[in-house]
This record gives sequence, structure tokens and C-alpha cells, in this order.
Amino acid sequence: MASYFGRRVSRSALVQKRLWFRPENASRSIASLSSLPETHQMLQKTCRDFAEAELKPNAARFDKEHLFPKDQIKKMGELGLMAVEIPEEYGGTGLDSLAYAIAIEEISRGCAATGVIMSVNNSLYLGPINYFGNKEQKEKFIPPFIDGNRVGCFALSEPGNGSDAGAASTTAVSSGSGWKLNGTKAWITNGYEAEASVVLATTDKSKKHKGISAFLVPKPTNGLSLGKKEDKLGIRGSSTCSLIFEDCEIPSENILGEPGMGFKIAMKTLDAGRIGIAAQALGIAQASLDLAVDYATKREAFGAPLTKLQAIQFKLADMALQLESARLLTWRACTLKDTKKPFSKEAAMAKLAASEAATFCSHQCIQVLGGMGYVSDMPAERHYRDARITEIYEGTSEVQRLVIAGNLLKEYN
Ligand SMILES: Cc1cc2nc3c(=O)[nH]c(=O)nc-3n(C[C@H](O)[C@H](O)[C@H](O)COP(=O)(O)OP(=O)(O)OC[C@H]3O[C@@H](n4cnc5c(N)ncnc54)[C@H](O)[C@@H]3O)c2cc1C
Repeated sequence: MASYFGRRVSRSALVQKRLWFRPENASRSIASLSSLPETHQMLQKTCRDFAEAELKPNAARFDKEHLFPKDQIKKMGELGLMAVEIPEEYGGTGLDSLAYAIAIEEISRGCAATGVIMSVNNSLYLGPINYFGNKEQKEKFIPPFIDGNRVGCFALSEPGNGSDAGAASTTAVSSGSGWKLNGTKAWITNGYEAEASVVLATTDKSKKHKGISAFLVPKPTNGLSLGKKEDKLGIRGSSTCSLIFEDCEIPSENILGEPGMGFKIAMKTLDAGRIGIAAQALGIAQASLDLAVDYATKREAFGAPLTKLQAIQFKLADMALQLESARLLTWRACTLKDTKKPFSKEAAMAKLAASEAATFCSHQCIQVLGGMGYVSDMPAERHYRDARITEIYEGTSEVQRLVIAGNLLKEYN
């Protein structure tokens, strides 16, 4: 039996179905534009059932008590969801980007905070190590982070610069047998629990963004401490904090790629990460639509269910339109990535459209629920708070527009 489909699918059935996941076949998955291949449908159902049983009933508590969903993350590790695209030789699940997006959407539909914890471990921590790491780095820093017992994080932003990612003031200076890091990284998701981080630091200030390098930093490490846990508007089950480096020494072999490659590594990592955040936003938008339809079907006003009111029908129609358009953009970005075609523009479009859909749908959901939308007895207000971050992290909506316009103008030229 294979772990990532629970206990329902035999290994032999999976091996056969795994053929669908070969990157060269991945375009087939979208070819019909109307249905997913069987294996992706099975993954979707497994994640949906898990989210219904394990996440939805607990999401309000994780939110209220700022609780990291430790047990659920472990179970997700057993299902193969913490290393979806990592090759099997390093213990990962070896699936494609479309499978990853589908899984994150379903998990976030149950709990958006759990969705971002999963997304950061998959795309921002394991992703760059898998793509840019050498064999020794992969063997050391990937396998311990696939089963949900440990999570990793990615430290790019700083108190003084977020969107302007090339202006890193954290420094790494070569010191005999290794590197000495100094500076503060801000807003780091999973920062509290993470047992390793991909850290971006300037190794040659004169070269500006070409003088940034990426490092693998285990935690704990002497000279690395944590700032306070941020008290956030939403996704409160995930931790966010600063990583503070004070003469933090790491061995020379912990540089990822070559010196000066850090900015490229960060941008490539964020391209893939944006698919994860788009999928997280889709999950929030879908949960909002589900709730609005359910409530409008049961709630009566003027002697009939709310669903009989055209004003409510129009809201539901607009929500479904934004959600499904954004999902198509997200799946398109996945298909391009899976077939090794450029996907920066499409990932930015997907993230922009899906995050705006999440904000729109959660806003409309509150409106459909009226007073019940405004209180924490119902999840509508949580969806509204959770949605907001998807327009900010891994590049704000303004930055996504810059990425889209930059690529678009290049295409015209
Ligand atoms: C909950 C949370 C989790 C996060 N997780 C991580 C993480 O795990 N790792 C990590 O490295 N970072 C993380 N971040 C940081 C996040 O990516 C940044 O907050 C984001 O990139 C924006 O940077 P900033 O906050 O410095 O805003 P600024 O860059 O100061 O931007 C402020 C405003 O100015 C706009 N703006 C800036 N530059 C331009 C421009 N050139 N054109 C148009 N408008 C512009 C922005 O769009 C925004 O509206 C997280 C942030 C939060 C809140």
C-alpha cells in the first residue's frame, strides 16, 4: 500500500497510475480542460477527505489559540503531502506540480494556515534544495523534512526590504572554513518550528543583487535566535517570526549553488511558490463559496430560501466565476512548469487572480451570511482574514503586476 493515497490504493495500482505523473505526459492532464486524470482525482479525494475529517473541525481552534497543527502535519507527512514534487530517491512523493496545486487547494479549503505550512515546506524549503542543491546537500537536508516530523523555512525578507528583495542587508562573510552570517530576516513562515532554513544573504555588496548568495542553515545553530511570534490577522495556526543572525557560523559546504546565485535561486523559488499560494487562495475561495451556498440554501427570508433571491444568486455566480477562472490559470501555470516551459508570468497571473478571488469570495460570503458572517461561530470571518495575506506574501499584488507586465512587454518586443 502506498502512503500518499492512504490505505486504499495498492502499490501496483499506483505504479501503473504513476505513469500519468511523468512530466512529458503532464500536459494531457489539462488537455480536456474539464476533468482531471484519474490519479489526480484520487489525490484530490484523499486530500478532501483528510481536510474534512482532520482540518475543518479544528481550524477555528488553531486560529483562536495560534496553534501549530503538529499532529495534522505529521499525518500529512504520512500521506506524502509534505514533499509532493520531491523525487522518490530522496523519499519524496515524486508527483507533478498539478498534483501539488490540487493537494494544497484541498488542504487550504479545510485550513488555510495548514495550507501555508505545507506550501512553505514544499516549495520554499525543499524546492530550492531539490533544484539547486548538490547530492550531499540533498541527502542531508531533504529526507528529514518529508515525513511531517520536521518542517523547513525560507528567509528572504528583512525588516528594511520585502518587495525590493535584491537589497538584502543580512551579510555572509567568508571566515576560514565557512561563512559568518549577520543580520535579521523578517516575517519567516514556519520560523518557530523550522529545523532548517534556506537563507539569502549578501556576500558582495558591490554587485548588488548579483552579490546575494543562498545558504542552508540548520536550527539550532550557534548565533541564530528567534524574534517574537507575530500576532497576525489570519493564518494564525502558522508561525511567523524573525530569524536573527549574530556571528552565526555555518560550514562552507552549506552554500546552495554558487556564490552570487542567491537572487536567481530566490526568484526561481518564488515562481514555483506562487503556484502554492495561488492554490491556497483557491482553497479559501472554495470554502467561502461552499459556505455561502450552504447557508443561502438553508436560511429563509421573506418566506423562501435566500437562494431564491436574484441578488444572492448573482453573488454566488460572481464568486464561482472568479474562482473557476483563477483555478484554470493556476492549472495552466502547473502544466507549463510540468512540461519545463517558462511559467513566471502564468504563476504571477495565477497568484494575482486567485488571491483576488479569495478576497472577493470571502467578502461576498460574509455578505450572504449577514450577521452570522461577522461572528466567529461561523468560519466566514476566518476565511476573510485568511484570504488577505494571499495578496501580500510571495510578492504583493503590485509585484505580481510588475512580473506580468515585464514578461508581457518582453513577449511583444
Ligand atoms: C504572514 C506573513 C508571512 C510571510 N512569510 C515569509 C517567508 O516565509 N519568507 C520571507 O522571506 N518573507 C515572508 N513574508 C514577507 C512578505 O513576502 C513581504 O511582506 C512582502 O513581500 C512585502 O514586503 P514588505 O512587507 O516589505 O512590503 P513593501 O515592500 O514595503 O511594500 C509596501 C507596499 O508598497 C508596494 N510596493 C513596493 N514596491 C513596489 C513597486 N516597485 N511597485 C509598486 N508597488 C510597490 C507593495 O506592493 C506594498 O503595497 C511574509 C509576510 C507575512 C505578512
